[in-house]
Amino acid sequence: MPQISSLKKIIITVDGWSSCGKSTMARQLAKKLNYIFIDSGAMYRAITLYFLRNNINVYELHQVQQALKQIHLSFQLNPLNGNNEILLNGENVEPYIREMEVAEKVSEVAAIKEVREFAVHQQQSIGRDKGIVMDGRDIGTAVFPNAELKIFMTADNEVRVMRRHKELLVKNPSIQIDDVRSNLSQRDHMDSNREVSPLRKADDAVVLDNSNLTPDEQLSLALEWAHEKINA
Ligand code: C5P
Repeated sequence: MPQISSLKKIIITVDGWSSCGKSTMARQLAKKLNYIFIDSGAMYRAITLYFLRNNINVYELHQVQQALKQIHLSFQLNPLNGNNEILLNGENVEPYIREMEVAEKVSEVAAIKEVREFAVHQQQSIGRDKGIVMDGRDIGTAVFPNAELKIFMTADNEVRVMRRHKELLVKNPSIQIDDVRSNLSQRDHMDSNREVSPLRKADDAVVLDNSNLTPDEQLSLALEWAHEKINA
């Protein structure tokens, strides 16, 4: 059995629609392979949080450019849960970036060319040494177009709505399923119709529809694909 460190390192991209379990799967896959996991959506959410906190007008390019100069994003391993958590100018903002207020604005912010350039530049430098699993919307198409393994995840619309509702209920017991449904469809629409790097399946991506798969089943499928590429 070869040592993990002596194996070829690859880049694995996981793209797809909102709330189809990309981050959960990508995190587990990275753990199994001893790879770094990066949730690129957390970066767009942290930028959005900064814009909201500082009343940045997204239609004023100068304001956006100035704001981006003030933003420093980094990731820090939380030893309690093993997750790589996002820091915005040194502050751990994980507890705030999943809130509805951010979810309602993030796709608008993520559609801005300058915001994408800022985030993509950082994503590419984090992946320079490979050995990374990154999830998002444009990772296989724009961030790492030469990635060895590209996974495009999808699931039934209602399955995704129910999953996200259940997840959000833990923090906000009054959250309405209709609000979750409309947020998901609005984000999917904006993400796949924006001008700069819209969400789409890369031509060489494999599709993982997890509507009827357990987390373990989808993980073993992805691991199988990863081992095929690592051993190729
Ligand atoms: O993955 P998550 O749902 O946390 O992403 C939040 C939002 O960030 C998406 O709806 C999308 O607008 C944006 N995003 C993006 N490109 C990525 C990752 C996320 O535009 N690579």
